[in-house]
Amino acid sequence: MPGLTRDRREAGVKLGKREVVLIDTAGLEEGESLSITERMRQQSEAALHDCDLALFIIDARKGVTPADEVFAEIARKSGKPLILVANKCEGRAADTGFYEAYALGLGDPISLSAEHGIGIGELYDAMERNFSSMPARDEDNFDDDEDRPIRVAIVGRPNAGKSTLVNALLGEERMITGPEAGLTRDSIAVDFVWQDRALKLYDTAGLRKKAKIKARAEQLSVGDALRAIRFAEVVILLVDAERPFEKQDLAIGGLVADEGRALVIAVNKWDLVADKQERLKELRAHCENILPQIKGVPVVTISALSSSGFDKLMKSVFEIYELWNRRISTAKLNHFLQDAVERHSPPAVSGKRIKLRFMTQPNARPPTFAVFCSRADALPRSYIRYLENEMRTVFDWPGVPLRLNMRKG
Ligand code: GDP
Repeated sequence: MPGLTRDRREAGVKLGKREVVLIDTAGLEEGESLSITERMRQQSEAALHDCDLALFIIDARKGVTPADEVFAEIARKSGKPLILVANKCEGRAADTGFYEAYALGLGDPISLSAEHGIGIGELYDAMERNFSSMPARDEDNFDDDEDRPIRVAIVGRPNAGKSTLVNALLGEERMITGPEAGLTRDSIAVDFVWQDRALKLYDTAGLRKKAKIKARAEQLSVGDALRAIRFAEVVILLVDAERPFEKQDLAIGGLVADEGRALVIAVNKWDLVADKQERLKELRAHCENILPQIKGVPVVTISALSSSGFDKLMKSVFEIYELWNRRISTAKLNHFLQDAVERHSPPAVSGKRIKLRFMTQPNARPPTFAVFCSRADALPRSYIRYLENEMRTVFDWPGVPLRLNMRKG
């Protein structure tokens, strides 16, 4: 959800022997207008979705407000472990609010004064009780759900062979012959199965047909491509072996990386290529140069017309999907960070070396990391790229966009 991250702050902290990432959702004041309330709701839901444990904090001096009740409902529905905290409990003025908090149905409140440091020990104990009953997070895991269909889009310049490929994959002519009117929001994806794995294929061919009707068939419609890319988890960029990597191809490749999707490049019409080995070497080398932000992106050769190379293509789709879903444990990440900094230390600003302190992976799909450092704003782009390249090598993570966010803390 765009804009959310701006309203959210994260910090890596150590609580006892545990490394914890605190997410502070800002702006949960009582919303006057509908849009603010809606934004707060979205924000809380997103934060709840990401967290292992939520602290639900009310201002005990004000008592339980209608907004508290709304958020209590959201919090309860999230199913996440919760700790109810009544803050500003340093004086008698908070007594009523503290007892009201019981009525939220979120368990017994902890009486806290964050400002005066009263009740921190109790809060810490409550957090610790929750943490110790959670499954350990110290092993790498993959959160792809085998049953959920992988969403795939095939994009590329006009004439690259998209509809030929889609038809060949689906084994029928449905894309071309399908009724134009069927192009509603619901019918935009086609389900299919490849070697027991469920996929959802975005109907780009249909979009192309629509584009033709609007007489702009030879133009790459960025809007159409973007819609397909945003729908997809894995994007197959189809390029024409006879004219590979023209400006439009690169533009689409860049879009896929920017949107944080997993990319597979399929070089089509391979049947027309004479010196196949030589050409493939060239293409691969070329790819490294033109899309450095997703170094190691898989390149496969196919012929949509003769249905060859599909096994390789789909294998790449499944593999890149797994890499895109991958999570690395905090322990391993910090080990990595330490080594990377030792091999090549960050620069100094105004005489002081920038310190990189701690690293976590709050998200996958695409893999997203938070690196907490002393001068996040001053760390040069080149150093971030260095870390990114190191990650690709050390964790064997080719071809997916990796997001490294530098945080103050
Ligand atoms: P789209 O505009 O990307 O959907 O491209 P089409 O699927 O309409 O294909 C454009 C042209 O390329 C058609 O004439 C296809 O027959 C041809 N074509 C597609 N795939 C292949 C292929 O693998 N080999 C060869 N030789 N021609 C192909």
